[in-house]
Amino acid sequence: MTEQPLQRIQSRITAAERGPKVTLVAVSKTRSALEVRDLAKQGQQVFGENYVQEALAKQTELADLRLEWHLIGHLQSNKCKEAAQAFDWVDTIDRAKLLASLDRYRDPSRPPLNLLIQVNVDDETSKSGCHPQQVPSLAEQIRHFPRLRLRGLMAIPAPADETSRIRAFERMHELFEQLRCAHPEIDTLSMGMSDDFELAIAHGATQVRVGTALFGPRPVAD
Ligand SMILES: *Cc1c(COP(=O)(O)O)cnc(C)c1O
Repeated sequence: MTEQPLQRIQSRITAAERGPKVTLVAVSKTRSALEVRDLAKQGQQVFGENYVQEALAKQTELADLRLEWHLIGHLQSNKCKEAAQAFDWVDTIDRAKLLASLDRYRDPSRPPLNLLIQVNVDDETSKSGCHPQQVPSLAEQIRHFPRLRLRGLMAIPAPADETSRIRAFERMHELFEQLRCAHPEIDTLSMGMSDDFELAIAHGATQVRVGTALFGPRPVAD
């Protein structure tokens, strides 16, 4: 039997791991619930979605499965309620304004909502992610909310040559280690996608987000 893409990616991740186990987030944006179910049958439990509505529709169809859902797309303030209810992780926290409402709508019978602070590490033109200097203050504010739990940092470095990407990964690793001095409980540095997840792991990623390499090319949005 030919090896499935999931097994291939998992072996590449294991080969690249330097210490702590690296989590694979399967990025299922634009993929059908059936495709997610198929990957879940092969053992994949962690999925990432970019849009709250799209995730909700798939979760309804997949309610019989125990999956872990990450929001990896930009979170609009008016979607905080649904995000707090539908996801296990929000990986794109970039402003303090989101926190009170995520905390308020997180069901107390569920574990706290896991959060990553998204850092705009190298792209001055991108609107997503906070400035590196804002990380400590955002992290402090998360502490005040009992239904929220800071787990670490996330970045989407600008597509660029390998040297620039390595520089971005190294900068993120440094920020992560600095943050861990004040917040020893954090354990997640999310960076690396289909094209560069091994490079990201070599520079300290503990979580990678892979779409295309698992599911094949995405249909072009219309
Ligand atoms: C789409 C997406 C990915 C996955 O990208 P691929 O190149 O398909 O692996 C990872 N992270 C985020 C935030 C994304 O939007």
